[in-house]
Amino acid sequence: MGFKPMIFANRTAVIATMHGKEKVIAPILRQEFGISAIVSPNLNTDQFGTFTRDLNRTGTQIEAARFKAEAALLLADQSLAISSEGSFFPHPLLGIPCDREIVMLLDRANDLEIVGEEMSVTTNFDCKLVKNWQEIEKFAQKVGFPDHGLVAIAPNGIITKGITSVTELSEIVERTFAMFPSEVLRLETDMRAFYNPTRMINIEKATLNLVNKMHSLCPQCHTPGFAITEYKSGLRCSLCGSPTELTRAAVYRCQKCDFRQEVAFPNGAEAADPQYCPYCNP
Ligand SMILES: [Zn+2]
Ligand SMILES: [Zn+2]
Repeated sequence: MGFKPMIFANRTAVIATMHGKEKVIAPILRQEFGISAIVSPNLNTDQFGTFTRDLNRTGTQIEAARFKAEAALLLADQSLAISSEGSFFPHPLLGIPCDREIVMLLDRANDLEIVGEEMSVTTNFDCKLVKNWQEIEKFAQKVGFPDHGLVAIAPNGIITKGITSVTELSEIVERTFAMFPSEVLRLETDMRAFYNPTRMINIEKATLNLVNKMHSLCPQCHTPGFAITEYKSGLRCSLCGSPTELTRAAVYRCQKCDFRQEVAFPNGAEAADPQYCPYCNP
């Protein structure tokens, strides 16, 4: 029998979103905790930064999510808020585009902030300068258009967002090349959740990660959000026993009472393959 953290039970959460993220977030919170979700009234989350370059991003990803959650709490006069923030960048090891989604719970009644996260290389994040219909078709197909929306930026800087039909796209293309016959059109994937089902799946996964952390209670004070805050390297080589750069332990920490717990071998392996050993494979 799973013990459900009672501090969230049957509360109302305001979801800070303009782009339909509540469709994946709300059902999970209802099922897990009986939380009813309302969408933040009058919240223009685009003021905190968008993916379409017309505004700069505010602070770091977590700061941006916190700003949104705080603004939603004020507007809705609630004590529980959920916000979400995505970031797209080249994967540090693989170099391919990667989507980091966070879903934050801010609980003013209990003074808690819990962050769910999903890092995924499953994303269509891309852009291309195109000069003819053949290149446009190729790019559109690659990024999953029209199920996934597009953004077009004309040489004069005019931005059209949320393009979801071939008719709409061809109109923009015709108009642009009529005005600027020898120039290029910039196409980008529209990364707003409502226009990007692939991103929506990653937001759903980040929500499930948040739920896991909400279920994880501090062994000492029973506050939810008892989660990994640090990894320790030094997993020993299976051949010679030398410490390697691989993860040896995860450290869980409670944000209320600061209780810490080290869990050995969080990735399952109790020894490192000699290929990662500085002595066996220098
Ligand atoms: Zn604690
Ligand atoms: Zn070794």
